[in-house]
Amino acid sequence: MTYLKSLILATFSFFFVVSTVIASVPGVDDSMKPGTKKGIVSVSHPIAAEAGRKILEQGGNAVDAAAAIQLSLNVVEPMMSGIGGGGFIMIYSKEENKITMLDGRETAPQNVTPELFLDKNGKVIPFSKRHVTGKAVGVPGTLKAIETALEKYGTMNLSKVIKPAIKQAERGVKVNWSAAQYIEENKAKLKNNPAAANVFIPGGEPLKEGDTLIQPDLAKTFKLIKEQGSDALYTGEIGEALVNEVQERQGVMTTDDLERYEVKEREPIRSDYRGYEIVGAASPSSGSLTVQQILELMEGYDVKNMGINSPEYLHHLTEAMHLAFADRAAYMADEDFYEVPKKGLLDDEYIKERRKLINPNKSTADVKEGDPWKYEGKEPSSMPKVEENHPEGQTTHFSVMDKWGNMVSYTTTIEQVFGSGIMVPDYGFMLNNEMTDFDALPGGVNQVEAGKRPRSSMAPTFVLKDGKPFLALGSPGGATIIASVSETIMNVIDHGLPIQEAILSPRIYSASYPTVRWEPGVNQNTRLELMAKGHVYEEVPQHIGNVQAVVFDYETGKMYGGADNTREGTVLGVDKVSYTSKQPAKIIPNKAGPFKVKVNGAVFPYLAKQMKLLDGKPYIQSDKLLLGLGLISSKDLKTYKPNEESYLPVIKAAKATGFKVTWNDKEKMVLLEKDPADIEDPDDDGSITN
Ligand code: GLU
Repeated sequence: MTYLKSLILATFSFFFVVSTVIASVPGVDDSMKPGTKKGIVSVSHPIAAEAGRKILEQGGNAVDAAAAIQLSLNVVEPMMSGIGGGGFIMIYSKEENKITMLDGRETAPQNVTPELFLDKNGKVIPFSKRHVTGKAVGVPGTLKAIETALEKYGTMNLSKVIKPAIKQAERGVKVNWSAAQYIEENKAKLKNNPAAANVFIPGGEPLKEGDTLIQPDLAKTFKLIKEQGSDALYTGEIGEALVNEVQERQGVMTTDDLERYEVKEREPIRSDYRGYEIVGAASPSSGSLTVQQILELMEGYDVKNMGINSPEYLHHLTEAMHLAFADRAAYMADEDFYEVPKKGLLDDEYIKERRKLINPNKSTADVKEGDPWKYEGKEPSSMPKVEENHPEGQTTHFSVMDKWGNMVSYTTTIEQVFGSGIMVPDYGFMLNNEMTDFDALPGGVNQVEAGKRPRSSMAPTFVLKDGKPFLALGSPGGATIIASVSETIMNVIDHGLPIQEAILSPRIYSASYPTVRWEPGVNQNTRLELMAKGHVYEEVPQHIGNVQAVVFDYETGKMYGGADNTREGTVLGVDKVSYTSKQPAKIIPNKAGPFKVKVNGAVFPYLAKQMKLLDGKPYIQSDKLLLGLGLISSKDLKTYKPNEESYLPVIKAAKATGFKVTWNDKEKMVLLEKDPADIEDPDDDGSITN
């Protein structure tokens, strides 16, 4: 080889190696879905996505597009968000190189007390009742938030970006499968409100997929807003109608509450994760702080090597979630009322102390909050922890990036699906039930108080590399948002998945010991192994969250997106990119077997074909039974081998591992009981030696 040739080759390979190394921006896989350089949106509905894409095409920036998307969502996905609700807008302004948060959270009216959700005997009103009255409605913030965003960070005005939504409401839009499903599931709630029933259940029949949803009242409302701006709601006729309706339904909101409403600009929560910076919504959200605590706890483990959705990964993740959620219940609420120890909660030493509580081999039953105040040099607060769960609502998250590099990550809500179920008559929009995000029980940091914002879990997030954001993401799903966002981030950063796969890979959620919610795809062996460690996987899987994300390849300048499939998630580039997710397969519960095995009350996930009754005695396929009981070997137990499969007697095997066993012959049920504290450490030799 001549000197010149080898020099050329050496130079070429140097560049080749360097460029392949540098080009590996997490979440990017051009071969999977193409990118664009002109701007991109990822939204849960194709029509709202198109409204945003068009604004970008017309020269609007990410904030302009986000405002148009929100208004359009109010029309096409009215059960999830709108001007009757609230949300958090995270904005990255490229020009100012700054990330900010606009807090448009609903706020408690002035005339409330911490006893708002107690009945006259001092008992908590059940959630099913308390979320559908006027008392549940918080002073909405969405309209003012998008107006503020446009004024401070946008280039277009409200009267322009509202146009697509007016058209859609006036001419009507086709009901998609997802909207049809939500209308069907909520018909009872909607029937209680004549205005809402008229729109969504015309003539008593819920709108179905393919029907046209026409909303003339909403179109009228949007026209008023187009003329008068947010004043039409906060000081005008829309607000008067809203307040009348809320008061009609036992609420105490006044027009004065609307006039006082303020959008707050806040400093986001920041932390480092494996060389990346995570930046998310601050108080009154607990979302990002909890996400970041989970990530910090997981940073102590070799997550990449554990492998995605391996038993080891899911065990540590579940334990990390329990620790973070315990802190969330104790310390996180509206910071304008109670100081949140946000530095302590993310302090490296505090995280190390908390991580020590994770037993790598079994689930910990008694998880308490820690003392983050110590790491801020302060005395612990005197507010007691109030732990309350209520059914997760639904919400919408969407992400936008424009050609200049500005980004928006926006989670927006009316809390439950169709919020409080109350529509403002003649004005056509649903009212939130965000007040039920406060604790119903007085006493804790998240109790109801006048002018306060209820604790949220929404976690619109940016991930940065070297100070530049390259990923915007978030999800709906109440407290499960925290799981969806943290898992998607680890899927990208640790597990190296392109964003679309990172979103679609199955997630789990568990806020406290022992129950774990899981999505289809977490395999049976994994669940059995985890149940042997003391986790209780729910019998039937369910979908968790709905993540919409955009990714910026800072090496090539190309933008990519990922959208979830539990709604009609859509990614649109100003040019080139266009795709909509396909509806996932229906979840079909497993066929019942000849008997059931319950361990500490939880049904073990055995399939009918893995179970046999032999002479009236329960047997289970050997490898599956060993996994579920946490056994290493069965050398002293007689197996039964009718064909290639071998089966083990459940009762004998369970007794040998220290379970108290009851066989209910009538119900064909094996009941196994063991104190979680007695679960063997698998580091010991777990073989049966009876
Ligand atoms: N109200 C919830 C929250 O702020 C959002 C609604 C939901 O997705 O459940 O956390």
